Amino acid sequence: MLYFDTHAHYDWEEFDEDRNKLFDKFKEKLCGIVNIGINLESAKKAKEYSNKYQYMYYSLGIHPMEVEKENSLMQIEKTFENELKNKNSKLVAIGETGLDYHFSYPVDLQKKYFIEQIRLANKYDLPIIIHSRESQEDIEKILKENSVKKKGIMHCYSGTPEMSKRFIEMGFYIGVGGPVTRYKDVQETVKNTPINKIVIETDSPVLPPEPFEKHSRNNSLYLKYIVKKISEIKEISEEEVINYTTQNAYKIYGIKN
Ligand SMILES: [Zn+2]
Repeated sequence: MLYFDTHAHYDWEEFDEDRNKLFDKFKEKLCGIVNIGINLESAKKAKEYSNKYQYMYYSLGIHPMEVEKENSLMQIEKTFENELKNKNSKLVAIGETGLDYHFSYPVDLQKKYFIEQIRLANKYDLPIIIHSRESQEDIEKILKENSVKKKGIMHCYSGTPEMSKRFIEMGFYIGVGGPVTRYKDVQETVKNTPINKIVIETDSPVLPPEPFEKHSRNNSLYLKYIVKKISEIKEISEEEVINYTTQNAYKIYGIKN
């Protein structure tokens, strides 16, 4: 079975030089990449890639760090109306959305967009991709007050193992990326999370796994380092990690294989 990268950003300028070359290389190793939209423009580009490459899928959303820019969720909804209504389109999720308290983006605005995107996901019966950074408590609170029909992924999970347990109990999956090769807390979370609740992701171009430099460019081929680490922690073969995480991704995103 091939890898499924549940979260990447190939529309970012870091890939302007060699995007197509990389996309051609991915054909052999990956059966799926979800290019995650962070605003209207990024979703448009992601849709283009999905037209060209069989393994490419995409999501629609307004990233918590984008909330102050010119963005209207209504406009996004209107632009992608046909795809949202078409169950077989390659638009497979809403997000990424969530809360980021690491920087000082206005919290009220972040919450507003988060709740609106939960509504959008429910309206079109799509799963949601949640970004949380130093904001776990508020995320949990909002999810309890605004129930999500189709649970999705707690992307690049970096909270405590206790909190991850609560999210799993709510029905969410844990997205494991490069940080699992660096941080004990994330390793502990993976240890305590059943493999049928784990998906893998790179968050390319950011967050490369070891042995790569922290601020070097990431890409989906580096999933193999993430798989290797998970296999060590869970004491199962790498093949099994790939099988489970790819099947989980198909299930979450409603992709028939
Ligand atoms: Zn992301």
